[in-house]
Amino acid sequence: MAKSATIKAFPERNRRVDKAEAAERVRKIWPVLKKTYPNAKTALNFRNPLELLIATILSAQCTDVRVNMVTEKAFKKYKSAADWAKADLKEIESDIKSTGFYHNKAVSIKGACKKIVEQFDSKVPCTMEKLSSLPGVGRKTANVVLGNAFDKPAIACDTHVIRLSRRLGLSENSNAVKLESDLAEIVPKKNWTMFSHLLIFHGRNYCRARKPDCENCPIAKHCPAANDPALW
Ligand code: SF4
Repeated sequence: MAKSATIKAFPERNRRVDKAEAAERVRKIWPVLKKTYPNAKTALNFRNPLELLIATILSAQCTDVRVNMVTEKAFKKYKSAADWAKADLKEIESDIKSTGFYHNKAVSIKGACKKIVEQFDSKVPCTMEKLSSLPGVGRKTANVVLGNAFDKPAIACDTHVIRLSRRLGLSENSNAVKLESDLAEIVPKKNWTMFSHLLIFHGRNYCRARKPDCENCPIAKHCPAANDPALW
């Protein structure tokens, strides 16, 4: 089983996740998380699907705050997919440099925009199949765009979603694709996008990677990993 570098292996005694129990746990934690984070949404600033696509590509290994600083300027300069597609690669690199991994990100952005112009009539496509066919666009990025720019149910499995799903006993997988499929079975479809946001907010506020605040966590009574470092 593939493992993220930041995710510890689930101990053997808890490897098997009972789907019915996991679905019941989702039902119990959902209202608590909704109440705790009533304004949960993506922290990336965007006005249209193209801007969210670019911002999400830039957000890899970078904070949302930094991405927003970079895109505030960049979106004034590059207003369409064609603008990005025809721009000089070095110039894009320079404009996005502070987000890190700027060469690869510039290649992805330019390549994705070129394909959007040439094959999708200059519009960001709104299906998983087409979005994930764009250079540099993986399933997670596609799900962020589908869920937040197109209002389609989508589970974006970032590091928080993976970590919390495992601690909460919702999936034993650390592979993002398998974990997304596990969550899709136990979370009602209409809640997919918001459930990702809630786990991300909870991961930032209580269930942090190194030192989760189980003492004050509002869903601790439903969590099999509460106060058990062996399960973090
Ligand atoms: S009880 Fe602890 S491990 Fe469980 S969700 Fe809360 S902070 Fe995370």
